[in-house]
Amino acid sequence: MKYPARNNLICNYDFVPLLNKDIQKFNDDTFAYEGKFELELIAEAPVYVGSGKETVVGGRLCRALIRNANGVPVIPGSSLKGVVRTIAQAVSNSGGCAEAPYIRKEEIKYPSNRNCKCLVCTMLGSLSAKSRVTFSDFTASDSDTPNLSDASNTPNKYDTSDTLVLNALKPYSHDVLDVKTKYFINNRPKGIKFYSQGDANKIQGEVPTECVAAGTGFVGEIIFQGLTETHLELLCFALGLDDSFPLRVGGNKPGFFGVVRPKIISFACYLSGTYRNLKLELPQSRQIIDMDPVNLAKAYVNKNPQIKSNIDKLRQILNRKV
Ligand SMILES: [Zn+2]
Repeated sequence: MKYPARNNLICNYDFVPLLNKDIQKFNDDTFAYEGKFELELIAEAPVYVGSGKETVVGGRLCRALIRNANGVPVIPGSSLKGVVRTIAQAVSNSGGCAEAPYIRKEEIKYPSNRNCKCLVCTMLGSLSAKSRVTFSDFTASDSDTPNLSDASNTPNKYDTSDTLVLNALKPYSHDVLDVKTKYFINNRPKGIKFYSQGDANKIQGEVPTECVAAGTGFVGEIIFQGLTETHLELLCFALGLDDSFPLRVGGNKPGFFGVVRPKIISFACYLSGTYRNLKLELPQSRQIIDMDPVNLAKAYVNKNPQIKSNIDKLRQILNRKV
């Protein structure tokens, strides 16, 4: 199936080019840190992260949101981790480990390495290395929607009456020729694809889709262990903590769903030995490190001209309103 013509006309996505892979060499005495972010992701557009199931809302069969055991909609940690990884790959020298399905489908011989030691794989893990960052599920919270607060004592604060149903665009399958013209130039991938913003109510498709309304916050935490300062800078940047771009989560991105902006609830950071020799201290003997996540994110930006140029491109796509 071809893209619907309206997508081509609006051109609601663009690419950030892949940068050549660069192996990170950390000295044995490079300090490492552990700690925790508590964040709230505030939806600026409807959010749909699908469960793969269907549900009936107001007599209509629609694609259902993924919810936790209490029935509250969540953005799964794995989903957010994917968002962070994609941005981190777009703004670092991680070249071929940024594999997208459409690249594999084309069977382009683009180097991939299961033992990759790039900045992203040493932080978020690879086939041969454990991730040093753990993402919890982010749970919809009703603190900013007073009309729901009456129900705050019940575990099922959210049910289908708290969500809305919009008609999302039909997910398309790529045919190879289509992929070739859209995603490749001179037999090389154009880069990593990101979507711009727009009015979710203006682009409506045919697929009834349950979603969480704009204005809802999702609360969760991210725990890290054994990250160097450079890793932390990249992590804070990729989480959008300098507020220079919103994140995009979940499905129907071509229909402008899933714009979320992070708010820092708390941040704690402790010294945990060195990159190669992690030392986990007991809570009472931990050495608190005074670092500010917003400044860490800002510090990442001026690494080198190539990275700066990719960051400019990323910000331009994610902030653009079409
Ligand atoms: Zn890598």
